[in-house]
Amino acid sequence: MSTLKPGVVTGDDYKTLLAAAKSGGYALPAVNIVSTNSANAVLEAAALAGADVIIQLSNGGAEFFAGKGMADKHQAKVLGAVSAARHIHLLAEHYGVCVVLHTDHANKKLIPWVEGMLDHGEAEYERTGKPLFTSHMLDLSAESLDFNLSECKRILERMSKIGMSLEIELGVTGGEEDGVGHDLDDTADNSKLYTQPTDVLRAYELLDPIGHFSVAASFGNVHGVYKPGNVKLRPEILRDSQALVKERHATADKPLDLVFHGGSGSEEEKIREAVSYGVFKMNIDTDTQFAFAEPIGAYVEANPVAFKHQIDPDTGAPYKKIYDPRAWLRKCEQGMVARLQDAFEVLGAKGRSLAKD
Ligand SMILES: [Zn+2]
Repeated sequence: MSTLKPGVVTGDDYKTLLAAAKSGGYALPAVNIVSTNSANAVLEAAALAGADVIIQLSNGGAEFFAGKGMADKHQAKVLGAVSAARHIHLLAEHYGVCVVLHTDHANKKLIPWVEGMLDHGEAEYERTGKPLFTSHMLDLSAESLDFNLSECKRILERMSKIGMSLEIELGVTGGEEDGVGHDLDDTADNSKLYTQPTDVLRAYELLDPIGHFSVAASFGNVHGVYKPGNVKLRPEILRDSQALVKERHATADKPLDLVFHGGSGSEEEKIREAVSYGVFKMNIDTDTQFAFAEPIGAYVEANPVAFKHQIDPDTGAPYKKIYDPRAWLRKCEQGMVARLQDAFEVLGAKGRSLAKD
């Protein structure tokens, strides 16, 4: 088994991590973070599970990381992402696991966000020989396939020079993720929710010669958690895409590195099936948001007076220890850590970390 140094992995180390997941039949959870609390919770969860992990930020998450008070929103999205990346670069190795650093959906309007982060990535590469992020995502699935692929090519040309990888989206993931996405239409046949394997083949032929890329292919997956029944998951689309590329280009098995968006609320059996077809990354956000939020609700309910008065109006007892943000933020972190143990388990990643000092 290959081993890697603990910490943020990029370039060839990232490919090693991917290859180990695919050949080992497991996938890594990609968890959205918005603060040091959620970042640290993911690191803690990975260390506890003995698993490697993917940490990602949406554009809104990056903006939040910089602080909602920052006037220039574009700058906040770029610098928030850079700040989160620096935080994780500094700490990850001390948690003893490998961490992939990634950013989530960037639609056409957000191309300048990706380019802004790449400016910082290139400067970092010049300074240290490593980029800041492992990969970024470009989600141009709402545009024509021609535009989608030509922009992906342009950006990947820039990224591959500094050892970065690009995640692309073909077909659309239903639902909405941080303002980027598509409404589900109950009356439509939702055929765009299913990627065509021939489109995946086209992407492979264009991008594979340039650099490393991964594909978020749509197989009926939806962002958010909804009542079941609206859309059917058809993971066999992933299997068929792999088979088509393999057949046309005489590659090894499962040539594509596939990503599962909208993993929250999915049936375990479908998750395992998708992983068996070469999915190495499953995004999880909605479920960990709830896991972060639920404990604070219970805590406030159990300590209602402490959230209204610094000192008990009847007994005079001080409540400092209860309203101290560390007390309740820690509960949130612990909720997220616990939920992520299930994710590592279902994805088969538990105990599979490649990190070795
Ligand atoms: Zn997504």
